Amino acid sequence: MLADLHIHTTASDGSVLPRELPALARSAGLELIAITDHDTVAGVEPAAAAAASLGMRVIAGIEVSTDYRDMDIHLLGYGIDIHSQILGEVTQWSVKEKQIRNGKILQKLRELGYDISWEDVRLPQEGTVAGRPHIAQALVDKGYAASVSEVFQHLVGEGKPAYVPRQRISLERAIDVIRQAGGQPVLAHPLQYGFPEHELEEFVAFAAGCGAVGLETVYTGYTLSQQAELRSLADKYGLFITGGSDFHGSCKPDIHLGSIKFEVEELFDL
Ligand code: AMP
Ligand code: ZN
Ligand code: FE
Ligand code: FE
Repeated sequence: MLADLHIHTTASDGSVLPRELPALARSAGLELIAITDHDTVAGVEPAAAAAASLGMRVIAGIEVSTDYRDMDIHLLGYGIDIHSQILGEVTQWSVKEKQIRNGKILQKLRELGYDISWEDVRLPQEGTVAGRPHIAQALVDKGYAASVSEVFQHLVGEGKPAYVPRQRISLERAIDVIRQAGGQPVLAHPLQYGFPEHELEEFVAFAAGCGAVGLETVYTGYTLSQQAELRSLADKYGLFITGGSDFHGSCKPDIHLGSIKFEVEELFDL
């Protein structure tokens, strides 16, 4: 089955509504998708309902921002119970953390001379979990920048003048929470963190030791030799491999739905 197992919707920082995604995915040649919004599962049900009417399946997923050695490491969870109480507690905590942080970022931007407040931040749907991309878009809308990525590069990215850190759940705890929610914890885009080779292996070994079961090996921009490197790491630590595009719609215009078609066999019980 041709799958894209890493997709964002308007429930977090994507631009496509959950209920619109299945039809879009099908016309892009995909047979199976996972909805993996940042720190929320709100997009799963509407996407699954729309998929069902097309005879398609949606895997209930999430992408959790976690902490490992002070880095923002993304953990995917697949096949989770979206009504899990413990997962709900963690996502609610994350949303609260993000809200506090969004306020601090806006304050910093005003101190830097930008005329911007929460009223300028337009959210695509009720209940969208807002973050830096939405603030960045507001700055673009007000003519302060040409693109969201420009705002990350100069203002809200890590180490930039309007950057505010936020508290994150530890990687080991997040792995445990995903498992308690009945899901399969998978390390997202492992080459995005700039680990030197031995630290990448340490990271994978640590996560596998904590109960992670998969490694995202096929990902936008990963070359065949990088995929091969990740595959051998996955083999060594007994992890399944997964693949996804990290589609966000217009928020990340270079990533197209259907650009990654990961062949899902009965690799793991999704
Ligand atoms: P936040 O949840 O507020 O920490 O925002 C993080 C999200 O912003 C990431 O998960 C990405 O989807 C997005 N993001 C990070 N860096 C960039 C960038 N350079 N350009 C556009 N979007 C970005
Ligand atoms: Zn995102
Ligand atoms: Fe991510
Ligand atoms: Fe993502």
